[in-house]
Amino acid sequence: MHKRLSILGSTGSIGTQALDVARLNGFTVRALTANSRIDVLEEQIREFQPALAAVVEERAAADLRVRVADTGTKILSGMDGVIECARCEGVDTVLNAIVGMAGLLPTLAAIEAGREIALANKETLVAGGRLVMEAARAKGVRILPVDSEHSAIFQCLQGAPAGQRDALKRIILTASGGPFFGWTKEQLRDVTVEQALRHPNWSMGAKITIDSATMMNKGLELIEAVWLFSMPPERVDIVVHRESVVHSLIEFADNSVLAQLGVPDMRIPIQYALTYPARHPSPVGQLSLAQFGTLHFAAPDEEAFPLIGVCRRAISRGGVFPAAANAANEEANRLFREGKLRFLEIGELVEAAMEQAPDRPVYTLADIREAGERARDFVRQNVMG
Ligand code: NAD
Ligand code: MG
Repeated sequence: MHKRLSILGSTGSIGTQALDVARLNGFTVRALTANSRIDVLEEQIREFQPALAAVVEERAAADLRVRVADTGTKILSGMDGVIECARCEGVDTVLNAIVGMAGLLPTLAAIEAGREIALANKETLVAGGRLVMEAARAKGVRILPVDSEHSAIFQCLQGAPAGQRDALKRIILTASGGPFFGWTKEQLRDVTVEQALRHPNWSMGAKITIDSATMMNKGLELIEAVWLFSMPPERVDIVVHRESVVHSLIEFADNSVLAQLGVPDMRIPIQYALTYPARHPSPVGQLSLAQFGTLHFAAPDEEAFPLIGVCRRAISRGGVFPAAANAANEEANRLFREGKLRFLEIGELVEAAMEQAPDRPVYTLADIREAGERARDFVRQNVMG
């Protein structure tokens, strides 16, 4: 099966692994986008020769335009340029690997253009889940999950034939627990950025690595699962699983449970989203359960890691509460990485910002943006003060 792709956020952790998958499968890459890293993007343009590439930062885009003047790739700039890449002609699947709520407009643009979506950018669903899912339904566009847990659930659901979906009782998301599993609140008080960036199992972008340390990542994934699989939040459970071998599970009415397993390598879920329903060979290592010997599971400590609960409350209330929690977290996460915030303050500020959000059950894109801006302002003000 040949695929023609547009890869948004191609210079990041997921983006570069997606290009790895594209290279191995001989897929065509028609468009690439980046925020600012033009060195990496230039190499990608020379290798994949896309028709379009976009750089958000104008000056970096201008630089790149000069550098690749000898190629046939047209260089666009700004968010408008990214959106044009999301709509690029002759593309089957748009893989959104942008980090943060910045991915929302490109996702909506790609859906509007009728492109299939391979979604890594979970913040898109957290902030605008209802808008994204309604748009996809209206256009008959499929959203295929790239996030490993959601890919696992999606793969397990292949074992639930149409008509049997009512028998699905529960989704169980696994969580690695991050670098601070087992730590008390007291121990978490003084953790450094460097410690928080040391994830035990996955090598990922900085923002999601910090989200894994605070467990906000699992809260975001809970909301992502609610939208992708139309499950009420009270039927999405979370279990800590230290080895990241069982990527998630589903439970049926008869209490039979299906799981998807594999070594922790994002190229499996990325490739599945791009080849579905086919399975292609992969360079990812085989799973040897005997080598692991033992797999561990535990309940999450929601006292030391309150953000799972904050996200559960946000999605249960609905409206723009999840958008506010997500935006506050984007801001707090960045301030923590810049050394302007202590680790535990991330949870406190995200919770307070979520509680301050307006109760707006039916929302528009403008409402999401406004709730996000207010939440970011709230976090900034409470750091300064
Ligand atoms: P990353 O920071 O490594 O890469 C982010 C990409 O987005 C880069 O190409 C960057 O240029 C681009 N970008 C950044 N800010 C932008 C903006 N404002 N506008 C447009 N483009 C922008 O991040 P990542 O780890 O690859 O994660 C990407 C997404 O995938 C996130 O939503 C993350 O939660 C999700 N995800 C990542 C992993 C992983 O293993 N890294 C796993 C599951 C889900
Ligand atoms: Mg995940």
